[in-house]
Amino acid sequence: MRNIPFLNLKQINGQYQSEINTAICRVAKSGWYLMGQENKIFEQKLASYINANHVIGTGNGLDALVLIFRAYMELGILKKGDEVIVPANTYIASILSISENNLTPVLVEPDLTTFNINPENINASISQKTKAILVVHLYGQVCAMDKINAIAEANKLLLIEDNAQAIGAEWNHKKTGSLGEAAAFSFYPGKNLGALGDAGAVATKSEELAQTIRAIANYGSSKKYHNEFKGLNSRLDEIQAAILSIKLKTLDRNNNKRRSIAKRYCSGINNSSILLPDIPKDTHSHVWHLFVVRSKERDRLANYLKKNGIETMIHYPIPPHLQNAYSGLCDISLPIAEKIHNEVLSIPLHQCLTDSEIDYIIETINKY
Ligand SMILES: *Cc1c(COP(=O)(O)O)cnc(C)c1O
Repeated sequence: MRNIPFLNLKQINGQYQSEINTAICRVAKSGWYLMGQENKIFEQKLASYINANHVIGTGNGLDALVLIFRAYMELGILKKGDEVIVPANTYIASILSISENNLTPVLVEPDLTTFNINPENINASISQKTKAILVVHLYGQVCAMDKINAIAEANKLLLIEDNAQAIGAEWNHKKTGSLGEAAAFSFYPGKNLGALGDAGAVATKSEELAQTIRAIANYGSSKKYHNEFKGLNSRLDEIQAAILSIKLKTLDRNNNKRRSIAKRYCSGINNSSILLPDIPKDTHSHVWHLFVVRSKERDRLANYLKKNGIETMIHYPIPPHLQNAYSGLCDISLPIAEKIHNEVLSIPLHQCLTDSEIDYIIETINKY
């Protein structure tokens, strides 16, 4: 029987094995492991890739988000109790970064076809206290930025991007991560650009924000033993930075491979009990971090695929407002977010899938 894992990181990273070995050796022998040349190089490469003025490496993607909000608090642009608009169906990290800073997340229903925040629902959630929108380009697809930009401008809201899942995607020829005031990236191993451990980054056009974040991430200090802020420690390892510089070179190629697999799934799968995602008109607006289908009998479909050797995952089984950690939010009614969490199933999609694996996945789903 076939055995197709959801993701095979050994295979994916194996493609860079000799380059990665060289990089690890170089850093190991250099005697310099934090805040060095490798960070500087990767930060510059990512900044030029997305066309941002500043990139700051961080320990992970959650820290990148937390640092953005923390810096706005330190700069007096946000204050305790301010409200931040965020999609109701995002990964918990987006919400954690808001509550961690004593800001209030205001959950907004997504669009059932794109899974992204529905701009039509944002206005009704704006109050006197609303100060920011955190957009999440979920599953790799850019949000409806025309409408969201207009809402942010009209209401003078900060626009922040959680770009953990959409590195390389474009809107109007601009890369995600450069579409708002500041953006967070995650290089968690399973992301489209993955490190061999935890890693993340912040990107911004603002020099002031960049300097503040750099200081906060380094114990609140930009001069050794002088602490301007009550900071934290969240830095990108030199080894991870060196590996990310190598893998960034092939990101576009890998994202294109993902697009071609998504296209094959969408044209090949014709099982009427399964709802497929739309291929957007602008193919550059999606990098297919995940290929997510919907089924009324999601668990039955997952079991059937498992029996046939195809591993699937659910992103995500429980929405944030129904998590014990956010019991204060459980009273709100978010039927679309709940429907999504009940019906979604992610099927394998990554650059190392072979033609015959893709065909087998399509055939197996069609026989369901
Ligand atoms: C992965 C992810 C994060 C967090 O990134 P880590 O590097 O795991 O901390 C944040 N937001 C979204 C939407 C993610 O998918």
